[in-house]
Amino acid sequence: MSAIDDARGLLAGLGAGDPLGVWSSAGRANLIGEHTDYNEGFVLPFAIDRRTYAAVAERSDRMIRVASTFDPDPVEVDSAALAELFAGEPGAAVARGDVPEWAAYPLGVAWAALRGKPAPRGLDIAIASDVPVGAGLSSSAAIEGAAAAAFDELWSLGLAPIDQAKVGRTAENEAVGAPTGIMDQVSSIMGRTDAATFLDCRTLDVESVDLGFAREGLEVLVMDTRVAHSHATGGYRDRRDACERAAAAMGVPALRDVAVSDLDRAAELLDEVTFRRAKHIVTENARVLDTVRALRESGPRAIGELLLASHASMRDDFEISVPELDLAVDTAMSAGAIGARMTGGGFGGAAIALVEHDLVDEVCVGVTGAFEEAGYGEPRTFTVHPSDGAHRDA
Ligand code: ADP
Ligand code: MG
Repeated sequence: MSAIDDARGLLAGLGAGDPLGVWSSAGRANLIGEHTDYNEGFVLPFAIDRRTYAAVAERSDRMIRVASTFDPDPVEVDSAALAELFAGEPGAAVARGDVPEWAAYPLGVAWAALRGKPAPRGLDIAIASDVPVGAGLSSSAAIEGAAAAAFDELWSLGLAPIDQAKVGRTAENEAVGAPTGIMDQVSSIMGRTDAATFLDCRTLDVESVDLGFAREGLEVLVMDTRVAHSHATGGYRDRRDACERAAAAMGVPALRDVAVSDLDRAAELLDEVTFRRAKHIVTENARVLDTVRALRESGPRAIGELLLASHASMRDDFEISVPELDLAVDTAMSAGAIGARMTGGGFGGAAIALVEHDLVDEVCVGVTGAFEEAGYGEPRTFTVHPSDGAHRDA
């Protein structure tokens, strides 16, 4: 069964009222620009053809009931009680056990979208997805985007796509309590077929950049190491802190404002580790701009070196890779990939490789074999295609 059918089936199983429709949003892969988002820099992600669906039915009261294929128990909250539920410290409702973490995503979106507005009519929402969770493909943004698209239409909120993305981020930061940037939501919601979303995380200017993968016979292969990552662990927080420290020492609002030519001065001002953290961000921003230029001027085969340089920077300077990700990247390159890099927040998750269509099987076999030889758990490999963002499906 497809995920959209699962969502519909789950909704029917709730004994819900008349179905109102199905909305969905995409997972995303980041082509390049890692950890640059919270440094007010540039990112170049794309929405993928793995989606999260929200099937929604009418209610006659004010209750919002959410169900997911993740959890047999639906969660029900009065829409008038959302403000109280999510008041206080980020993630407090989850920490208190008032809502399970997964439900804080869709309910947090409802809360963030409704802030200051009167309580709307209630809804039953059933969620199902084929975005792998915790693989760095942003199942979190996909669930937020699907919920935001549904609420926007059903409650006539008039939110532009970028505002839906902001609502998703607010839900994730404050209701769930995960300190993430806005890249995931923007790319999940605003993606376009065979294009990447070039986002300036300071101005929130968005441009669609033609990728030409389909036209050129190229595939993006995801190599999911299945090493679990979690934003709750210290690594992500630690890197954010290092970036803030570096920006403060350099006397700028964010590392976005540091140019590659300023790095010599940074080396004098910062301790060795903090310098390497900053160096990754500064050079990664430059690589995003170079990638956009290369795609526009020369096409997708010209970006391989930039992807590899990005991986090396995350491995050596930002230190967020793990041996499994390095092995996936190295093996993909030996098997003939054009470029490869880890994608997502790091400390596990997936790497991507840009591969000629005819070489995909060879790369998959190579990576799987290399993992076996190294004694690592079996990786999951699959291709993804740059796809449309949030929309109504039915
Ligand atoms: P990812 O890299 O996949 O975004 P996150 O840790 O950011 O990883 O988000 C994963 C979390 O999002 C899950 O643990 C769950 O709480 C929530 N989530 C994602 N998809 C769904 C879904 N289909 N149903 C319920 N919760 C979901
Ligand atoms: Mg996420």
